[in-house]
Parts: sequence; C-alpha cells; structure tokens
Amino acid sequence: MVTGGGRGIGRAIARRLAQDGAKVALWDLADHEGVADELKAQGAQAIFVPVDVTNADSISQGVEATIANLGSIDILVNNAGITQDSLLMRMDEGQWDAVLNVNLKGAYLCSKAVLRPMLKARYGRIINIASVVGLMGNAGQTNYSASKAGLIGFTKSLAREVASRGITVNAVAPGFIASEMTDALSDKQKEVLQGQIPMGEIGTPEDVANGVWFLSTDASRYITGQVLNINGGLLMV
Ligand code: NAD
Repeated sequence: MVTGGGRGIGRAIARRLAQDGAKVALWDLADHEGVADELKAQGAQAIFVPVDVTNADSISQGVEATIANLGSIDILVNNAGITQDSLLMRMDEGQWDAVLNVNLKGAYLCSKAVLRPMLKARYGRIINIASVVGLMGNAGQTNYSASKAGLIGFTKSLAREVASRGITVNAVAPGFIASEMTDALSDKQKEVLQGQIPMGEIGTPEDVANGVWFLSTDASRYITGQVLNINGGLLMV
C-alpha cells in the first residue's frame, strides 16, 4: 500500500514494488497519471483506492477495499505529503495545520489502520517517507521540516512498540529529488541546491524507490527504527 502513489516518488515506489511481485494498492486523492492501469497492463495486480490520508473514515474504507481486492496489507509506505512554504513570520495557522495533517497525522492514521491485521499476521513493513530537511532544517519550511522530524520520532517509537511482533518500521529521508514538488523551484534555486550536493546532481524518484524496496524485503529483516538517507551526500549523519 503506497499513499500518494498517484505520481512522483509514490509512483516510482509502486512501480518498484510491483516489479518485485507485490500486489499494489495506490492510495491517493487521485490516480493522477493512471499508475494502476499502467501496472495492470504490465501484468501486476494493482488497484487505485481513493483515500484522503487526513480522514479516518476514508482510510478505514480504503483498508476494507484493499483487503477485499488484494487479500492482505503487508507493506505500508506512508509517502503522501505536501508543502506550503512560507517564512514563519508570515505562516498562518492554515498552512501549519494542512502540512502537519497530511505529512504527520496522515502517517499516524494509516499506520494505526493497518496495524491490527499486521499484528495478527505477525508480519509487517512500515516505511515512512521523511525528508533531509527533517534532519537539517530549511528556511521557509518550519511546518514541513517539523512534520518530517516528527515522522522520524514516530518511526522510532512505533518501531519499539512492534519490534517483537515481526513488524519493522523505518524511515527513508530523501534529499532533493526531481518531482512535481521540486519542479516548483526556480532554475536559480535548483542550481544553488545542486551545488550543495557532493554527488553534484538532484536525485530521481527511482533512487528513493530502491531504498524503500530494500526496506520492504526480508533482506532488511534485522533493520528497524532507522532512517535511510538518500541524498547524494547532502547530509551525512
Ligand atoms: P508529489 O506532490 O509529486 O506527490 C505527492 C502525492 O501525495 C500526490 O499524488 C498527492 O495527490 C498525494 N497526496 C497529497 N495529499 C494527500 C492526501 N491528503 N491524501 C492522499 N494523498 C495525498 O510529491 P513527491 O515529491 O512525489 O513527494 C512524495 C513524498 O516524498 C512526500 O512525503 C514528500 O514530502 C517526500 N519528499 C520529497 C522530496 C522531493 O525532493 N521531491 C524530498 C524529500 C521528501
């Protein structure tokens, strides 16, 4: 199950997991780019489920539809996220609440909704898409970086709660990745960013998807409560 799977990094994650044989449920407000049909055309089992991750009723309907169509939920990728950037002095409560609601509360609601079936199965993989700015901060993104730092704390606490039950919980913290979210930056901003990255280039959604794929497999069975940084060396911790 990939939230925000209708485009960008979520789409790349859905494609990567399907490539490895996973049945994929795309949870998003819209399947912006026909990802479910694309995956089905390639022989994968995939469905699009319209879900708003800020709405608990919408999520429980999503869980029902996913289990009815695909059988079980073994992997949850909390990827849906938004930005509403502004310097703090000008940030209104609406901007603060919207970003915290989708990025942090959304992950709490979706994780809670899938935990019961995962606990019953004594197996699960929860992967939260955080961000490098949750670790290093970014001017103009107090709401976004607080949501992503919160997601890292959430990851570590939940990992401790469920570690003995066969469920791992990890975070992936991408650096700057080419997507609709970063398309909004000016060429000048992109150039400045690129200059700060030791590898000298902005990452791709596939770079992130490969990390998520690793954390979703049994190859990562002894890894929990960790943050996998995928950032071309921008931040080394
Ligand atoms: P994107 O805007 O291209 O895609 C986000 C997806 O989330 C969209 O399909 C959107 O419809 C969905 N979404 C938004 N609100 C939703 C809601 N309430 N319910 C369900 N779905 C909702 O963004 P992206 O760049 O692909 O980012 C994906 C994730 O990666 C986000 O969590 C983002 O914070 C994180 N991230 C991105 C970058 C980057 O450079 N692009 C860097 C670090 C982290």
